[in-house]
Amino acid sequence: VAGAVPWITGPAGRVIPWPADRERRPARPNARPSVCIVGGGFSGVLTALHLLALPKGPTIRLVERSPVFGRGVAFATANPNHLLNVRVANMSALPEQPDHFREWLAGHGGWSAHGGFVTRAAYGAYLQDLLRQAVRGAPAGRLLLDTDEVVGARPASRGWRLATRMGRSLEADALVLAVGLAPPAAPPEADDDLLSSIRYVADPWADEGRLAGLGPRVLLLGSGLTMIDVALALADGGRRLTALSRRGLTPRVHGAEDPADGEPAPRGSAAALTRHIRRRARSGDWRAAVDAVRPHVQAIWRDWPAEQQSRFLRHLRPWWDAHRHRMAPAVARQVETMVHERTLAVQAGQLVSLRAGGDGVLAAWRLRGERRVRRRTFDAVVNCTGPIGDLRRVEAPLLRSLMAQGLIRPDRWALGADVDAVSRPLDRHGRPREDFFAVGPLTRGQFWEITSVPDIRLQAAEVARSIAARLAWAAPDD
Ligand SMILES: Cc1cc2nc3c(=O)[nH]c(=O)nc-3n(C[C@H](O)[C@H](O)[C@H](O)COP(=O)(O)OP(=O)(O)OC[C@H]3O[C@@H](n4cnc5c(N)ncnc54)[C@H](O)[C@@H]3O)c2cc1C
Repeated sequence: VAGAVPWITGPAGRVIPWPADRERRPARPNARPSVCIVGGGFSGVLTALHLLALPKGPTIRLVERSPVFGRGVAFATANPNHLLNVRVANMSALPEQPDHFREWLAGHGGWSAHGGFVTRAAYGAYLQDLLRQAVRGAPAGRLLLDTDEVVGARPASRGWRLATRMGRSLEADALVLAVGLAPPAAPPEADDDLLSSIRYVADPWADEGRLAGLGPRVLLLGSGLTMIDVALALADGGRRLTALSRRGLTPRVHGAEDPADGEPAPRGSAAALTRHIRRRARSGDWRAAVDAVRPHVQAIWRDWPAEQQSRFLRHLRPWWDAHRHRMAPAVARQVETMVHERTLAVQAGQLVSLRAGGDGVLAAWRLRGERRVRRRTFDAVVNCTGPIGDLRRVEAPLLRSLMAQGLIRPDRWALGADVDAVSRPLDRHGRPREDFFAVGPLTRGQFWEITSVPDIRLQAAEVARSIAARLAWAAPDD
């Protein structure tokens, strides 16, 4: 492409030309600093709210590529069967006001609770209401909601220059990546004909509308919370669903009440932690033991040497995920009914091949512990294996652009971007910048437990404070 700038690349490596410099910022020595937050899901919105609350805070541009701000991937679903997997009591968006969500629900009727759990749609409405109030109350020009996709970013003489899908050029003194995680990777066992056919749903969150049109026999790849969501969405229509994952582990269920437990979690190896949880589980509710560890997980993860982290990821992660990310009891009852009525079967096994055939999808897999290969034909396959974190494999233009310039690098375990202890991405040489931050699951390599509201809400507040402390502050009073 003539005149193209090589650091902005499109999804298939296509080079996107750098847009005309229409919005170039004039030199403003005493102007208020500006922060651009890319991604308007939970992480982006909460970071914006905390920045906005700073007395002499920056101007904030929150850029979201979808037309909906505040819901992100998790809270965009309108399905009434999709409940939060964390109790209402633990879902306040504001760390300093633990009852905030509960009080919001009390003041906004119409959301029914299912034993302490409400729909994810209710939570999305809560986040949107928080954002609406912030926009309404913000001093003029402090908060701008911008519907566009940021496709490239590079350091400028002061701060950053950003390129957007709509061809605009933006500038900001600081950049925050709140882009969530990339869609699941295509299964390597699948042939290209299948991957490009209408029988394959590559990302159930992006293609939620397609689920209703799938035929009666559906193969779900993966058996975690995403599989549960998809199974609930497909439950009607006389379908028979088969979920396949290596271990066939499904999420455990929350107890009737939040377990109380004061015993501190031990520091030490992954094996010591497992022994501790097993011992506690024998003498009481295993949920109490897991939940007692949870607030300390970030510190435990950070203290572990690389070899412990590696061992945890290789051997314990599936069990930790199944016990830590639990289903609401009302969801579990529906899943049990499906299993009982044989409309859902969960199998532990290894996929061997997945091919588009004349009248469907031909799947072959080997059950765990068996040599024999089973073959069945399905009408469709839904990839429920969860997001990929490996930055070398993501197609998102912004992350590719940052990777190509060496401004971000994958973390040691390819869970996301390598960041330091205050959430600043590290460049290819391991150096952070003072004007660059990341919030949310992209930072899993550093924090591990950073995928849910109770953890991200703290990180968003900390990142806002860090930005305030680092940006040269010459802002006028509000
Ligand atoms: C299905 C599901 C259910 C969950 N349920 C719960 C729960 O019950 N309780 C709980 O505590 N946690 C839950 N979580 C986990 C957690 O709340 C989410 O992971 C969290 O909301 C992450 O928010 P995020 O903003 O970091 O990412 P996302 O929600 O993925 O939002 C990122 C946003 O960035 C936008 N974006 C990306 N790239 C660009 C770009 N270049 N330019 C512009 N916009 C861009 C995307 O469109 C998206 O809206 C759930 C997660 C999922 C996936």
